[in-house]
Amino acid sequence: MSLSLPVVNLETAKFDCIFGRGCEGICCQNGRPSVEPEEAAQIEALLPRIKPLLRPDARKLLEKDGYLSNRKKLGFPMLRVIDQWCIFFNQGCVLHTIGMEDGKSYAYKPSQCALFPIQRNSKGQWYVRQWGYEGEQWDLFCLNPAASPVPASESLRAEMEYAAQFEANESTKSDENR
Ligand code: SF4
Repeated sequence: MSLSLPVVNLETAKFDCIFGRGCEGICCQNGRPSVEPEEAAQIEALLPRIKPLLRPDARKLLEKDGYLSNRKKLGFPMLRVIDQWCIFFNQGCVLHTIGMEDGKSYAYKPSQCALFPIQRNSKGQWYVRQWGYEGEQWDLFCLNPAASPVPASESLRAEMEYAAQFEANESTKSDENR
């Protein structure tokens, strides 16, 4: 099922992920997403597949202290970082790699990573993160609309579909809790 997603700045936003084409995955460097309990449960279940794919020091850290730090963002614990990279980064996101093996690339990543660079503003409206928009603080070059001519409406189709599904799931959960 394909769901549509209203994105307030979609007409003007530009975005082109150049991971592997000049970018080594800088958004996974100190990005520190937080992880909700359901996402953590999913990661726990995947640990036997995740561990062999990690950097050796990241695996040691995970086995010693776990993959969640004591710091919180949006009320949930954040992923650990080691040597300036997310614990799950090893020349790409290990959670993404395992998701691709299962035919669902975004399914195992924390939602903040799967949605990036789309997020909601204080009014609950979806928007594409861009320099100069909604007080964007992150200086990632890919958030500079002048860095690429590629319309976000083309490059972010998969992320928008994920966000639409994410929103539909939230709405189902809230109906179930009524
Ligand atoms: S979970 Fe994956 S996508 Fe998210 S910061 Fe870590 S390595 Fe990057």
